[in-house]
Amino acid sequence: MRAEITVTGIVQGVGFRPFIYRTAVKENLKGFVRNCGDATVEIIVEGDKKNIKHFIKLIRSEKPPLAQIYKLKVKFSRDKGEFKEFRIYRSLEEKRFSGLVIPPDISICSKCLEELKDSKNRRYDYFFITCTDCGPRYTVIEKLPYDRENTTMVDFPMCEKCKEEYVNPLNRRFHAQTIACHACGPRVYLTTKDKENVECKDPIREAGKLVEEGFIVAIKGNGGFHIATSTLKSEPIIRLRKVKHRAQKPFAVMAKSLEAVKTFAKVSKEEEKLLTSYIRPIVLLEKSDNYYLSEEIAPKLHNIGVMLPYTGLHYMLFDNVKEPAFIMTSANPPSEPIVVDNEEAYRRLGSTVDYFLLHNRRIAQRCDDSVVRVHDKIPTIIRRSRGYAPAPIFLKNRVKKPVLALGAEENVTGCILNEDKAFLTQYIGDVKNVETLSYLEHAVTHLLNLTNVKVQYIACDLHPKFNTTSLASKLAEKFGCEVFPIQHHYAHLGSLVAEYGLDEAIGIVCDGFGYGLDGKAWGGEILYWVEGEIKRLTHLQEQPMIGGDKATLYPLRMVVGILREHSKIEDWIYSKSSFLPFGKAEAEIIIRQAKTGKFTWTTSCGRVLDAIAALLGVCYERTYEGEPAIKLESYALNGKDILKVEPKIDGNIINTENIVLEIFENLGKYSAKDLAYSAQEYISKSLAQAAIEKAEELGVRIIGFSGGVAYNKHITLTIKKIVEKRGFKFVVNSKVPAGDGGISLGQAFIASFLG
Ligand code: ZN
Ligand code: ZN
Ligand code: FE
Repeated sequence: MRAEITVTGIVQGVGFRPFIYRTAVKENLKGFVRNCGDATVEIIVEGDKKNIKHFIKLIRSEKPPLAQIYKLKVKFSRDKGEFKEFRIYRSLEEKRFSGLVIPPDISICSKCLEELKDSKNRRYDYFFITCTDCGPRYTVIEKLPYDRENTTMVDFPMCEKCKEEYVNPLNRRFHAQTIACHACGPRVYLTTKDKENVECKDPIREAGKLVEEGFIVAIKGNGGFHIATSTLKSEPIIRLRKVKHRAQKPFAVMAKSLEAVKTFAKVSKEEEKLLTSYIRPIVLLEKSDNYYLSEEIAPKLHNIGVMLPYTGLHYMLFDNVKEPAFIMTSANPPSEPIVVDNEEAYRRLGSTVDYFLLHNRRIAQRCDDSVVRVHDKIPTIIRRSRGYAPAPIFLKNRVKKPVLALGAEENVTGCILNEDKAFLTQYIGDVKNVETLSYLEHAVTHLLNLTNVKVQYIACDLHPKFNTTSLASKLAEKFGCEVFPIQHHYAHLGSLVAEYGLDEAIGIVCDGFGYGLDGKAWGGEILYWVEGEIKRLTHLQEQPMIGGDKATLYPLRMVVGILREHSKIEDWIYSKSSFLPFGKAEAEIIIRQAKTGKFTWTTSCGRVLDAIAALLGVCYERTYEGEPAIKLESYALNGKDILKVEPKIDGNIINTENIVLEIFENLGKYSAKDLAYSAQEYISKSLAQAAIEKAEELGVRIIGFSGGVAYNKHITLTIKKIVEKRGFKFVVNSKVPAGDGGISLGQAFIASFLG
């Protein structure tokens, strides 16, 4: 018998062909296996019927750990006696299908780690040790098929010994495209910021020592540069904050081991699983009671972002070091993409760092670290990037025409929706400037090439002035297709609906800002989704933003706006004027503006949380996205609902003035912690109640929660508890970020209904 088999899934770059080879030989089959340019694997076998059947069964049950099979198509026919043996053929360039799959980067596997530390192994101490089960993929692939000549490893011809392993089907590096060793692979070296070579035998461990001593070192990895420094000394962190213009934003750390993490943070079973998974994301962990790292790492926050080493280089960095962890932050100038090129690194980071730890392999695709937080056992992705991208997300239903979506403005990702798969790009960032916008354009173009999808629609945000909106028109002209602008919060709900394949749902969508259908600022919405159509049902009370966008940066302005009719607000803002950049004079202007009644209005939930943070003295200035609300959450931790304010919903409007007023009048009477907790309770309860009211009215059984506010664990879990207690099913984003990093999926999904 003969079987022609096509396997679709994550099957290239994960040791799939060697596995097929070994299995076919074991089953006494003849024929071949090869990679195709469309990321599928083609197998033809001839032999005994019984063996072929068993062979097909084994493909599914015994596949390599990182392989994922989505589809396995088999065509049986009569044996043609075409083959003498089983072989691995050269890859086929032809692209027969579209929308196929490229693996993400994978952290170093345990076998490679063992060899790295084995002084008798020829790859002892080789920092870029990898095999078919591990190593970079997306960041080295320039085009498909995934063969060495299509990756940045093309610059490093294999030595004789590596070649032997590469062609030996019984070797675990058989056809491992990133195979390398001391003799033939990329090299690592240490320089000063002035490009002077630092003579040393062991540049990586030397760099580790420098970091521990308090120097700032830029480290080139697989998908970009990190900036590393000590976690125990505050001086270099303060210096880093100054040069990076990063006043308060928390830095992520890389810990040397799981045991080391447990000395300064609490780690649940789920968190441990994530930390040690092949994805190796940054996991937001609660600081332990005896937290002893510098307070400068994550100021005024109860949690800290931690990851574990994911390449040989990272492990070696910690070898001779006593510190439990290093700061490891993406090396990018503010609002610019992560730096990838050596010369560019000197130019852009030279004034920030003391040393550079470089290697000579090019980076094909930038890729930042991913960030995940666990809410009561549910992993919530905050940034979906390394380890995830560009593996697709599977949808329940197929879309009719392929769509490309470009996201909003902050935390942007692009998304290609094709048939039943959504391919999201790695994290791109804030696209307010040209560098990041062209990074987005480059990333989506690259992904379109890799997936071989021809888009027919382009989706973007409704905001007329977002850079992504103009990029949408530009690309629409280039590809000759139509543009669909999608309202921001509709898109948030769209991402949730797409993830779960819902026909009907009530969605609570809360974030900082999105351009509304009425041209106003939205951000606290209860929406209704039914088969492709969305309606706004309820929203938070509109509140004035005194000074427009300034009210976002200085939330004291929100407090005055909300309480503008209160007799004591004038005195209060004067008493706080030292926290305004222009002091008393500014307080005066704010009061005057509050009396005019001419404002821009917002229904944003984020702005209300910001106001409460300012009111309670938790945060007066927003120096990074979400800062006041994030600090409020940390501050409220372990508090109690002392005020017990009942939800006030007037028609289709959720009152927010009420809770701000209650807090204002109880300042000093109760602890600020309990007041902060009470505020979050009020917001959660009123959102849940408003959603339940509408769900009951419309007979909908599912209530979802999306938007950046869903990262707030207290609010999410409180809504969940109430909604489930009333018998509804509750859903939150789990495959894409609830914040704007997931919005491209929602845009693409909704656009697919419009076209
Ligand atoms: Zn490995
Ligand atoms: Zn070699
Ligand atoms: Fe948003």
